[in-house]
Amino acid sequence: MPQHPHLVVIGGGFAGLWASRALAKAPLRITLIDRRNHHLFQPLLYQVATAGLSSPDIAAPLRHILGRQRNIEVRLGEVVAIDKHARQVQLGDSTQIAYDMLLVASGATHAYFGHDEWAADAPGLKTLDDALYLRRKLLLAFERAEAEPDPAKRAAWLSFAIVGGGPTGVELAGTLAEIARHTLKNEFRHINPADAKVRLVEAGPRVLSSFPEVLSLKARRQLEKLGVEVLTGTPVSHIDGQGFQLGDTHVPARTVVWAAGVAASPLARTLDVPLDRAGRIQVEPDLTIPGHPEIFAGGDLVSLMQANGRPVPGVAPAAKQMGNHVAQVIRARLAGKPAPPPFRYNDQGNLATIGRMAAIVHVGKLQLSGLLAWWFWLAAHVFFLIGFRNRLVVLLNWAVAYWSYQRSARIILGDADEDDGKEPAA
Ligand SMILES: Cc1cc2nc3c(=O)[nH]c(=O)nc-3n(C[C@H](O)[C@H](O)[C@H](O)COP(=O)(O)OP(=O)(O)OC[C@H]3O[C@@H](n4cnc5c(N)ncnc54)[C@H](O)[C@@H]3O)c2cc1C
Repeated sequence: MPQHPHLVVIGGGFAGLWASRALAKAPLRITLIDRRNHHLFQPLLYQVATAGLSSPDIAAPLRHILGRQRNIEVRLGEVVAIDKHARQVQLGDSTQIAYDMLLVASGATHAYFGHDEWAADAPGLKTLDDALYLRRKLLLAFERAEAEPDPAKRAAWLSFAIVGGGPTGVELAGTLAEIARHTLKNEFRHINPADAKVRLVEAGPRVLSSFPEVLSLKARRQLEKLGVEVLTGTPVSHIDGQGFQLGDTHVPARTVVWAAGVAASPLARTLDVPLDRAGRIQVEPDLTIPGHPEIFAGGDLVSLMQANGRPVPGVAPAAKQMGNHVAQVIRARLAGKPAPPPFRYNDQGNLATIGRMAAIVHVGKLQLSGLLAWWFWLAAHVFFLIGFRNRLVVLLNWAVAYWSYQRSARIILGDADEDDGKEPAA
């Protein structure tokens, strides 16, 4: 199809993949570039980090997803620069790929609010590699505690902190508390895993601040019922390998997880366009970048206000809707038709799970918490997983976990002494 215009899509996440699929029948040559070979369902990443699911349950190869789409080719590679004047992107191996139209949908990354030095001691959760690293760190902490004769040091190994009280922080804290109290019961001989302290630290006044106050209060109660200590109102001021600082108090904790901040993918900066404070591209209402109607951007990478004055949230449905909108604009252009109306975010609600059988749901006027909300959350998440196999496996795993409290992926990868924050020999 050499005569067709060439659309390059950077990122096979929700925005990039949805746009690509919606353009399956368009007279285009599409090249989808991603630095990973898979599309990842990030909303269930915490399940991989906490050993409830395995990597292929929540990820599928992009080549497989798009294998039957004749007008697309998948390219594994990292885009390092975009030359919007020459209309080409550059990959890490110096390959240049020319485009007629470009969609930049490279998502977001962690932000440590000017403290990048905390990253080594407080890893975040964005990719499958992050999740597997976290899984190893969490499971190893119990092993280290089991082998530690000194009570204070043992307590530090059994002290876990999650920084950031958004959905990811809440999910991680609730699940970790369940692992300590139920999953690991009877398995150790020198420690009682239920002695583990799980703290959720949130700088703002409440957890899950994007939900109505009454639901966020219910979530806090559900967390506390699971044994999580919820600390709100004070920002963490320091993190190192031994613990964290909260106001005047140093809290020993050998495992700290960062779930507090996100920033746009650094690729946004290479475009030389107006960015917001989180580095997101301030796109036009049709999702193009200022002055370049041939370049679109979507998903977590962009900043856009809704008519109600609130920003479009960085969630999967928004990214999918943006991907679909970009496809609509491109289809109209190719057909010589008028452009569709500006992008409008259709808010389908807000869900967060807290642990086994506990969640909160806010959809329009509907507010649910507890068991009913959990069923709602489960159905929504399994439904949106890509691929029949994934849905089935995830459902089966959850059914088993529900009855037994067991987590099927409790595998510690690597040798016992490899890079796990163990104290160096004196
Ligand atoms: C732990 C976690 C939990 C979440 N939970 C929920 C939830 O419950 N509900 C919800 O709606 N949303 C949730 N989200 C948010 C949701 O996942 C994002 O809003 C959504 O993934 C954004 O889609 P995107 O296409 O913009 O980016 P992504 O899905 O992140 O995709 C970006 C893609 O770009 C690729 N990429 C990045 N840089 C480059 C580069 N330089 N070159 C090539 N490829 C590149 C990446 O490999 C990736 O495949 C969660 C996010 C996380 C991290």
